Amino acid sequence: METMAKRDYYEVLGLARGASSDEIKKSFRNRARQLHPDNKESGDEAAFKELAEAYEVLSDEQKKASYDRYGHEGVKGSTRDFDNVDFSSFQGFGMEDIIDALFGGGMRGGFSSGGGGRSGPRQGAHLRYDLDLEFLDSVFGLEKKITVKRLEDCTTCEGSGATPGSNLSTCNTCQGQGQVKQLVNMLFMQSYQIIACPDCSGSGKKIEKPCKDCKGAGQTRKSREFDVKVPAGVKDGDRLKLQGAGDKGPRGGVYGDLFVVLNVKDHPEFVRDGFTIHVKQPISFSMAALGAEILVPTVEGAKVLKVPAGTQSSSQLVMRDLGVPHLNNPSRRGDHVVHVVVETPTKLSGEERKLLEQLAEIRHEKLKVSAPVPDKTETASAKDASSHSEHKEEHKKDSSTSTSNSSKKKKSQEKDSEPAEAEDKGILDKIVDVFRHKD
Ligand SMILES: [Zn+2]
Ligand SMILES: [Zn+2]
Repeated sequence: METMAKRDYYEVLGLARGASSDEIKKSFRNRARQLHPDNKESGDEAAFKELAEAYEVLSDEQKKASYDRYGHEGVKGSTRDFDNVDFSSFQGFGMEDIIDALFGGGMRGGFSSGGGGRSGPRQGAHLRYDLDLEFLDSVFGLEKKITVKRLEDCTTCEGSGATPGSNLSTCNTCQGQGQVKQLVNMLFMQSYQIIACPDCSGSGKKIEKPCKDCKGAGQTRKSREFDVKVPAGVKDGDRLKLQGAGDKGPRGGVYGDLFVVLNVKDHPEFVRDGFTIHVKQPISFSMAALGAEILVPTVEGAKVLKVPAGTQSSSQLVMRDLGVPHLNNPSRRGDHVVHVVVETPTKLSGEERKLLEQLAEIRHEKLKVSAPVPDKTETASAKDASSHSEHKEEHKKDSSTSTSNSSKKKKSQEKDSEPAEAEDKGILDKIVDVFRHKD
């Protein structure tokens, strides 16, 4: 079989070079289903074996890297001889079973066990980098350069581990073949697998004089700079993957990946909940009563917010689309929720006190209880004998006629209190002037 000119593995799978592992898997499954022995029209033993071999190489990161660089020479001996596989034994088994038997995890485990030796060059380690982010950078994204110390091939020995020009002797374990045979048991068969020699990592050579710069390891740690693109809308604990930015695999292995873990700092004012940003906003009670335009901090700087007249403390005012952008769709944004806290002044000047007392009087608010409370309803106003207002009379009527219903009472009160309300407004405006922050 070796005498036949081998077809390109990508071609066998009907893919272009650089196909992703998902494409490789998908294509293999589709084609394997077609060539399956149970498939009377299209079942094809030779084609199936060719396909299995191609998939074995391209589904394995290390073998694929080697094949991409050196072609069939790069993976020579590291593929199993599928000619030994009894094709007919697959009959009656589903594709998943066959794929499991050929490429399942149990079998891979069998490869890497046995004295700790491994087949072929392995991928380098994945690295972690903790990146501290300001709150606003997590909202709007950020581009940042980071420096990572990672293992790379030693430049002196080009990763071989041997002093340049020094002699290499033949590896005793594999007699210089770079490969050893290993018996592997599988679901349907028992066969010899040829794997890379664990002692010389497949080179077939033993190092006589180790390189002095890497002490024979073939690798040294180097500082490298990478650009990290933090997208808008990330949150604390998110991870970004920089493919191939990790350690280099030893002896020709591919690079591992770098995982950037984001640590988002708390903001002194903003609290994030999903895509929503919450902020606490104190306002004066006169602003709450009269309504006001105020400037509130948002992630886009101070923005004008209209506080409606009669706003209660701890009410929430929503500013749409000023929250956190959705990670995968930054044009969609959460809201900015303003939690209003109506503040009561704790120190009053003489003038302020006078105005507030006047206001209380207009609103018939008793600041003290003058006598025990005899009546269950309308106590405060019923006692105010000196007033001549319509208001007063209405209350009298109420307390004398217990039949009047509350909705009627409310209506008449509203009507009656109109002039008083106008008066209230005037004094509230004065109060606003007195309390307004002068800046
Ligand atoms: Zn070296
Ligand atoms: Zn060897």
